[in-house]
Amino acid sequence: MFHVLPGRCLLCDSRTNRQRNLCNPCEQDLPWLKSSCRLCAVPVHDHVSVCGRCLSEPPPFVSSHAGFAYSWPIDQLLHNFKDHADLPARRVLSELHVKSLGNSLAYDKPDVIVPVPLHRRKERERGFNQSFEVATQLAKLWHVPIDHNCKRLKLTSDQKLLTVNQRGLSVKDAFFTTGTYQGKHLIIVDDVIRRYDHYLAFC
Ligand SMILES: [Zn+2]
Ligand SMILES: [Zn+2]
Repeated sequence: MFHVLPGRCLLCDSRTNRQRNLCNPCEQDLPWLKSSCRLCAVPVHDHVSVCGRCLSEPPPFVSSHAGFAYSWPIDQLLHNFKDHADLPARRVLSELHVKSLGNSLAYDKPDVIVPVPLHRRKERERGFNQSFEVATQLAKLWHVPIDHNCKRLKLTSDQKLLTVNQRGLSVKDAFFTTGTYQGKHLIIVDDVIRRYDHYLAFC
């Protein structure tokens, strides 16, 4: 767990000289996804816009954006805030999440933002839902509403420990919504997703 004073970097403990608990050099060194497939967000070579998998089997959504590869130190920061309610990590992650999505989607604003819900029990234990916090900030930035109709009915186990087939079964019927979305442009906000063999953060 990180313990930092205000104005100290979470990662290197130097003075940040700004409001964020992350210094500029450490922020630059994060595993930013610079070149991604515009459909599924997995890393691709420069000048490639759609990956081979999406070309042969297009996904059922029009685009995806992810800020980072889910690797050091993003994985550690996420672990700290999720499992230890580390407040500086929570704030830094929210800011980075909004920064990466806010920039990439600035010209592609949705009609509504759908934060991926946590199961009630999990949200009670953790005290907050990171996706909802980020959605709230994006909603303010873009002046669009947040969807509150989607609920998580099943308490799913850690997706990283499951095979592809088990993951599919574990999230089957896990969500329920009373909302109607026909003809609307939605974005779904989540902290980590798995696409093929890649774990991506801030999606
Ligand atoms: Zn630093
Ligand atoms: Zn792709």
